[in-house]
Amino acid sequence: MSFENLNLHPLILKAISESGYTSATPIQEKAIPELIEGHDLMASSQTGSGKTAAFMLPALNRLVEPSKAAGKGPRILVLTPTRELAQQVSQAAAKYGKYLKNAKVVTILGGMPYPLQNKLLSQHVDILVATPGRLIDHLERGRINFSRLEMLILDEADRMLDMGFIDDVERIADATPESRQTVLFSATLEGAIGKLGASLMKEPKLIKIASQTAKHENIEQRLHYVDDMSHKNRLLDHMLRDLSVNQAIVFTATKRDADTLADDLLAKGYDAAALHGDMSQRERTRTLTRLRQGGIKVLVATDVAARGIDVAGITHVINFDLPKFAEDYVHRIGRTGRAGATGIAISFASGRDSLHVRKIERFTGQTITPHVIEGLEPKFKPRPASTQKRNYSARGEYRNNGANPRRNGGGDRYARERGNR
Ligand code: ADP
Ligand code: MG
Repeated sequence: MSFENLNLHPLILKAISESGYTSATPIQEKAIPELIEGHDLMASSQTGSGKTAAFMLPALNRLVEPSKAAGKGPRILVLTPTRELAQQVSQAAAKYGKYLKNAKVVTILGGMPYPLQNKLLSQHVDILVATPGRLIDHLERGRINFSRLEMLILDEADRMLDMGFIDDVERIADATPESRQTVLFSATLEGAIGKLGASLMKEPKLIKIASQTAKHENIEQRLHYVDDMSHKNRLLDHMLRDLSVNQAIVFTATKRDADTLADDLLAKGYDAAALHGDMSQRERTRTLTRLRQGGIKVLVATDVAARGIDVAGITHVINFDLPKFAEDYVHRIGRTGRAGATGIAISFASGRDSLHVRKIERFTGQTITPHVIEGLEPKFKPRPASTQKRNYSARGEYRNNGANPRRNGGGDRYARERGNR
């Protein structure tokens, strides 16, 4: 559907068309009319499907009309789980709102100095994009006036709950006017998210385009069995030399591994950099900017730091270490194949990871096809998938029924690790 039919202001349409968007994505087509009508909304759709514009365009459309309330506080508030996402949302707001007179965007993140934020908050604000923790600080110090607030948007609400922000989100919502419109985007709408939605919203509309486990049909998923660390490093080197790699994100299990691997790659001559939660905000922002501008070819990252990153040049995602949770696998591979492009997702797995790989496949409903590279074949030969599936219950949980506990070199290790978390 074309954006022209969505009742958006011509100055917003102009910015959209300059962004190169020719038609609305399914979530945009469904969500924008509901939001323009003023309904509360709970929505889920897969990563990379254009959710930011789905909430930001109707939000901007509100700003065309002057506020009925007095004051200079924000009219739109967007909460995001991570700083990177907040910055991405702010950039989108500035891009889509560039022709509007009153669409001043302010971003409030943890890890940034307070004096500048205090100053920004004392001036006129239309759209405030923030991470919950730092926003609470400012709220408690009386630095934010929500009397003009019309719309509260929770982006990646499931991740905000996972990260323990639920109390903060509820306190922030309590500080805003009852009359507000409330919007929530999340990978799932069940369980705790459903409860949060019910407590914050009035008769919300529900939109589910496809679950987070939807097929990433434009992403080719490959598996490489690895023997040890040195084998992993040789494979990675081989892959990064591939001419079809424009930019890659390599995921490691820990922050320290991300630093070490990034240093290794730099030493080998790659434009590499690390991105993880122990870096200062300034470093994280600088790294992402360099990635966007093409100055970084290989970003070595951890799950939380890379969540939601949208950089068009990323052709490859490489799981140097598998993610602990199948859900994170989906978020990782979604960093490539953005906005309809194709991408390649490569996972390294050792023999003992076999069962974990099956678990990921069950979660996504897709197989990750084993590949070998000539000259870099693994010594380990995995068994065919069919013999391994028997140990799973109908719910996809690994069940060690004791029949063959040493199969795959003790693959039940993951079951134990999960239990310990
Ligand atoms: P999500 O939040 O669903 O993961 P984003 O909002 O980050 O997705 O959008 C993913 C990418 O798609 C962004 O680069 C964005 O600029 C682009 N995009 C969004 N809407 C459209 C559209 N209607 N047509 C083309 N590209 C779009
Ligand atoms: Mg998003």
